[in-house]
Amino acid sequence: MKTAVFPGSFDPIHNGHREIVERMLPLFDKLIIAVGVNPDKKYLFTAEQRLQWLKNVFGGESKISIEHYTGLTADFCKKNNASFLIRGLRNSSDFEFEKGIAQMNRKLGGIETVFVISSPENAPLSSTILRDIIINGGNVDALVPVKISLK
Ligand code: ADP
Repeated sequence: MKTAVFPGSFDPIHNGHREIVERMLPLFDKLIIAVGVNPDKKYLFTAEQRLQWLKNVFGGESKISIEHYTGLTADFCKKNNASFLIRGLRNSSDFEFEKGIAQMNRKLGGIETVFVISSPENAPLSSTILRDIIINGGNVDALVPVKISLK
């Protein structure tokens, strides 16, 4: 059984994330969307909220499970018998950042990272930019797969 983990903060989820999941789903038997919960990191949205949005978008897909985790992504993969990690690439900065992590995950954990190059429409999307728009009262409806607002 081929299991892949798609890890991220999803703070908040957006169309770039959805695209990666939809394109990768046919390649694997099981895809775990893993929401990182790092106590040292400041998020705009709670872990519960981030998980709930993912469930709203992907809950109906039997091959997808949605979980949260703390600690090393490689340890989470091992615990879930996942040999593959999925990461999206928007630009060369993403590539430079991800390259060393992928090499280390393969060396230390035997985990193969699969990189997906985002489509030109979704390449400009990032959760950081979305948070900025949301905090300043802008409308992100066209950029996200589910209604997102500050409570
Ligand atoms: P992280 O904090 O791990 O980068 P994110 O939620 O920002 O978490 O991103 C999760 C994953 O989705 C990462 O692999 C990231 O590269 C990918 N990603 C984010 N935005 C896009 C996008 N617009 N197109 C394709 N992949 C993306």
